[in-house]
Amino acid sequence: MKNLLLDGRTARDIEDRVARIHRDLDYRGGKVELSDVRALMSLDLAYYAADDAGLLSEVVHKLTIGAKQVIKRPLLLIEAVRKLELKALFVPDRKQILIDASLPDPKKRWSEGHEILHSVLPWHSAYMLGDTKITLTPGCHDRIEAEANFGTGRLFFPKAEFEPVLRSAPMSMQRVRQIASHFGNTITSTLWRCVEFDDQPSFAVIGAHPNRPQPGTPDVEHIVQSPAFAQRFSKFSPQDATGLIKSYCGYQRTGPLGMAEVMVLDDDGQAHAFVAETFCNGYNTLTLAQYRGPKSPQITKPETPLILLPGS
Ligand SMILES: [Zn+2]
Repeated sequence: MKNLLLDGRTARDIEDRVARIHRDLDYRGGKVELSDVRALMSLDLAYYAADDAGLLSEVVHKLTIGAKQVIKRPLLLIEAVRKLELKALFVPDRKQILIDASLPDPKKRWSEGHEILHSVLPWHSAYMLGDTKITLTPGCHDRIEAEANFGTGRLFFPKAEFEPVLRSAPMSMQRVRQIASHFGNTITSTLWRCVEFDDQPSFAVIGAHPNRPQPGTPDVEHIVQSPAFAQRFSKFSPQDATGLIKSYCGYQRTGPLGMAEVMVLDDDGQAHAFVAETFCNGYNTLTLAQYRGPKSPQITKPETPLILLPGS
């Protein structure tokens, strides 16, 4: 699925709210500590196991996933968690974030940020939000989820520091890894944020290892597009992404898998060159593709013979 781009007004509103949090935290750089954010906002955090009846003993009257009400009649929270395989929740009444203890550690940070954002955006708290494994990844097509993920990216990569860091050196996978460790975030979320911010047409692909497919894992989980890419290359498909990546990747299990200049057609059918590189972090295979320029059309079968004049 492709990342959903928010309209400018909503994006600015979310950015302003997140910037206020950074100001109130007196943020000075590096990793944003979520314990500080929770303390600032008087939010409580608890991890639950799906059989943790004590913590999940409340009755839920309304449960919404991505703005869609999924429970019509009152239900015990524990039943809902089991039935819907919820991975994280924000319970507005008790200002508590609940996260499934079985989520892998790097994902817990994203989940916590995502639920904090549900609490920050006032129009979200009309819902009792539950997040499944799918809505929690940083790219849900649903609007509410897209807003929470957009805000989480802003919270984890404070604009005032992120922009100069990003512009201080050319972008590459290695650079993405450095930025990830600077801000204490995952490589995946950093790649996501870097592409979202790019003013050139660029894209990232998050998915399975191209040469070591795993049953049940899609080749392409997400395509992250920069706004300029989304505008000019709207027909770019997961199949296109798979083909490109397979064309140059090796069989290494982890680390860099390859790099190449690849061709992508824009919406008018014109070919453009991108430099793509792929890295496998053990969980995901990540590809960053950056724009190089239009590719002049190759003449393969001229209809009339070309006559080259001397000196032409
Ligand atoms: Zn959510």
